Amino acid sequence: MDIIHLLPDSVANQIAAGEVIQRPASVLKELVENSIDAGAQHIQILLTDAGRTSIQVIDDGAGMSETDARMAFERHATSKISDAADLYALHTMGFRGEALASIASVAQVELRTRRADDELGTLLEIAGSQVTRQEPVQCSVGTAFSVKNLFFNVPARRRFLKKNSTELNHLLTEFYRIALVNPQIAFTVVSDDEELFSLAQGTTKMRIENLFGALGKKGFSQQLLTMEAKTALISIQGYIGRPEFAQKNAQQYFFVNGRYMRHPYFHKAVMTAYSGLLQGENNPSYFIYFTITPDAIDINVHPTKTEIKFADEQLIWPILLAAVKETLGKFNVTPSIDFDQDGAVEMPVVTDPEKVRPPQTIFNPNYNPFGGGSTYKRQQIDWEQLYDGFEKKKHETVDAPIPASDNTFTAVQQNLSLPETNSDVFQFRNKYILTPVKSGLMIIDQQRAHFRILYEQYSHQMEKQTGVSQKLLFPEVVELSADDALLLEQLLPDLRLTGFDMEKFGKTAFSINGIPGDLTQVNITETINEVLFSTKNMVVDMQSSKQDTIAKTLAKSACLKSGQTLSPQEMNDVINRLFACSAHAVTPDGKPIVTIMTYEELEKRFK
Ligand code: ADP
Ligand code: MG
Repeated sequence: MDIIHLLPDSVANQIAAGEVIQRPASVLKELVENSIDAGAQHIQILLTDAGRTSIQVIDDGAGMSETDARMAFERHATSKISDAADLYALHTMGFRGEALASIASVAQVELRTRRADDELGTLLEIAGSQVTRQEPVQCSVGTAFSVKNLFFNVPARRRFLKKNSTELNHLLTEFYRIALVNPQIAFTVVSDDEELFSLAQGTTKMRIENLFGALGKKGFSQQLLTMEAKTALISIQGYIGRPEFAQKNAQQYFFVNGRYMRHPYFHKAVMTAYSGLLQGENNPSYFIYFTITPDAIDINVHPTKTEIKFADEQLIWPILLAAVKETLGKFNVTPSIDFDQDGAVEMPVVTDPEKVRPPQTIFNPNYNPFGGGSTYKRQQIDWEQLYDGFEKKKHETVDAPIPASDNTFTAVQQNLSLPETNSDVFQFRNKYILTPVKSGLMIIDQQRAHFRILYEQYSHQMEKQTGVSQKLLFPEVVELSADDALLLEQLLPDLRLTGFDMEKFGKTAFSINGIPGDLTQVNITETINEVLFSTKNMVVDMQSSKQDTIAKTLAKSACLKSGQTLSPQEMNDVINRLFACSAHAVTPDGKPIVTIMTYEELEKRFK
């Protein structure tokens, strides 16, 4: 007797459903994606009991004919692809034709649908894959699905559902992923009679604001910077969070060709661009949209998996990294203190940053009171906004009225040299450097500023292998424990890149013959021990983070300290070098460096 037989459709569908439909959120995703594919302009979502009792999705899309409505529930019934080649040129969200069949096998489904040209629509009821009712019905154009009692016939799965708050979270997560990439579609979301969202059609930025502003974070989009990169291979557009607003639970989204994706590898690129700008375990928010020809990605990996394979991942990584880095550098705006709300920091808003043309910043290499580093090439940055107001008159007092936008400073820079000394600069308590700028009084923490300067310098030297070594008159010998000696030996190549001239000297000792130019004032043994200590405490063991740790530690040791008196020339040097850094607002460990007390704030205090 033959023992192999085909499973009844209802069973096959339930098996498929096990993969595709895991919880109410999966139903929502499939239904809403179908509505989008049907060209809907407005989609209404109604949830009862976090989707456990019912999930309704009502759209104003194309609708279906009576036959199509019936067909839609057959397995592998789809209007979206017809042969294998189509799989590689997908432009729709759905394509497998198994979602509706799966849903109908594990729930009670009611469908009302009508096409614009039909007078009457179709009503269809299906439960556990069995059609229980089918008749013509009066209804509006579009499609309304109602999915009730999910897993009513699979008790084990129904029990597996989590508590309502968790399921609602899953539902919202799916909703965000779809809504963020379809700002051209209006959405309404109602949960147990409470309206959660009512989103009008608009731009992506408005959509982000409406979604996350509604969560009590008004002004969310002001925390974001616009990024863009267009190459022949890929075009990347999006919004990334200012580092200052990073938080534990950030909103992080990648999309490709209108579809949400998870991409740990690209995530790493973004995080690498932020390295040194974040405090503690905070994460930046990002909303990054890729556009690429469909045949360069493979989304056919798994029905519910959100990972997507790119043919040219390795090529895209540096493009993404550079785009994020450039955006962070370009928009580096300094926080200003809001004196009304003790301690609160408010960001000045860049109204139209694209319009600001960064002047070329040229650093005078002949003058450098802090030694070393003359090989460190300054980068082109946008500091016009801050410096856009260095006053013409040399001896203006700090609280003098702000003149119009006459701008000698930039003009001088364009003449390819900095003013030898801007005399409107003074030191306060040997800790802060004060200088007037267009918008008010700028206050710089000297130690933190120099920390940032040296950190970028060392990083750059390691990357470009251009460290400068200063010979010591008497070589210094450092004695270490056996394990520290082993570790230092591993770090030697990187340390040499910064200018250390160092050799193993016996079993656990090292002789230091030369040191980086900037380190001349510091205790070398202590610095080496600090490098060892911080490398041991590194979270991830990667070559890049090792170098980063070394750069940070050396910079921290060598930087100017609070309490040091500075000449006007030295202060100017700090200012100039700080603003030549790729990130001047925060230290490598995320502390603020600069603040501006605005002229308006000052005025207010004298009212
Ligand atoms: P897929 O989306 O992969 O094609 P589904 O099972 O999700 O498979 O849907 C089957 C078919 O039903 C779709 O191809 C489409 O033709 C039709 N359909 C489903 N939902 C809608 C809708 N909201 N409006 C119009 N047609 C729909
Ligand atoms: Mg579908």
